[in-house]
Amino acid sequence: MADKKIIVLASSNAGKAREFNELLGPLGFEIHLQKEYDVADAEENGRSFLENALIKARHTAVETGLPAIADDSGICVDVLGGRPGVMSARYSGVHGDDEANNDKLLAQLAPYKQLEQRSAHYVCALALVRGPDDPLPLTAVEVWEGHIGFKPLGTGGFGYDPLFLVQGRGLTAAQLPEKVKNLISHRARAAMKLCALLERSPLV
Ligand code: IMP
Repeated sequence: MADKKIIVLASSNAGKAREFNELLGPLGFEIHLQKEYDVADAEENGRSFLENALIKARHTAVETGLPAIADDSGICVDVLGGRPGVMSARYSGVHGDDEANNDKLLAQLAPYKQLEQRSAHYVCALALVRGPDDPLPLTAVEVWEGHIGFKPLGTGGFGYDPLFLVQGRGLTAAQLPEKVKNLISHRARAAMKLCALLERSPLV
């Protein structure tokens, strides 16, 4: 069998590397973490998810000279003008404090007593830069529609999942079986889209 082609993941998250390996392995790719190449995280100073994904992937491709992939995701609440948005992971001020982030979101939405006023969507942006100078990166952005509930429900998932009532299901993302979430989520659909693009436009 031909050697697998390496794609460097612009992240230090081993869990994400595993997920991308499962997804892209069957297509002939091998995902390596950027720390194997001594690449530090890029500064995520974009104003959109896609800008951040591209900043991260480009930084890693430039540093390694190899193809690089990055993702950026979060949740946007309509009545808050799209916030937390790209600040989702650090909304409360502390990076990755899910409980504090959820508490802040519930407090901000307290004046909105009707579920229809609390519409929101998760967003996932993926970018694959095929080399340091790739002028046409492969990108995929997908959303997952729902509403922010009034209290946390469910124990699955992570982040805002206990608050995110999935459109048309009457359950939060944290109440969905993991397999179901991984088929219908913003991240799942963005990943499938990127795979389809990659099949049509393979790395040379
Ligand atoms: P990042 O993409 O690893 O930077 O994470 C962005 C942040 O968005 C996470 O820390 C979560 O707060 C939130 N987020 C993104 N996707 C999900 C999801 O599927 N469930 C729950 N929270 C999410």
